[in-house]
Amino acid sequence: MLALSAKEIADTGLSWAHLDIMDAHFVDNLTFGPQMLAALKAHEPDLFYDTHLMLDEPWKYTESFAKAGAGLISIHIEPAYDHRAELNRIRAMGPKCGIVLNPATPVEAVIPVLDAVDLVLVMSVQPGRGGQPFREETLPKMRRLKDLREEMGLSYRIEVDGGVDARTAPLCIAHGTDTLVAGTAFFKAEDKKLFARNIGAL
Ligand code: ZN
Repeated sequence: MLALSAKEIADTGLSWAHLDIMDAHFVDNLTFGPQMLAALKAHEPDLFYDTHLMLDEPWKYTESFAKAGAGLISIHIEPAYDHRAELNRIRAMGPKCGIVLNPATPVEAVIPVLDAVDLVLVMSVQPGRGGQPFREETLPKMRRLKDLREEMGLSYRIEVDGGVDARTAPLCIAHGTDTLVAGTAFFKAEDKKLFARNIGAL
């Protein structure tokens, strides 16, 4: 089924596939591991696998996901560990790296690592389940990250994940987001190319 989803993404003409990796600890859901990523990569080698680790102990898994073909690996700021060291380690293994913040986490929490990332992922729903409504109170965080990028002379992408659809995508873009994750809305859309065009992804 996941291989089919990857094929749908590639057939739509999109280049990135966002994978939510859950460990049943940091969030109470459990998804798949690096073997599944390796299988997807074999099926659709041209997709860029944007791998979002929703894990309490991401450092235990980054190496396996890097080896399995992740193009980018994002880790959360909320669990306590040496975020900068882990981001540097991801880059040294080959993939790009990203830092993620939950809806309740302020932008201030990620400022110390902004110079070490290729992407900042703003969660616009509480991670763990698909199909939740978009939380508009997260929009100012996207704007702030865009302002900080300019002030600090950096070039990270700003990505949003959760409740992104044809209505909320333009709001995110207007607030500085350049990378949109659409799960439910994309896979439910009958005309995926039209949906991708409507959110400005094609
Ligand atoms: Zn995600």
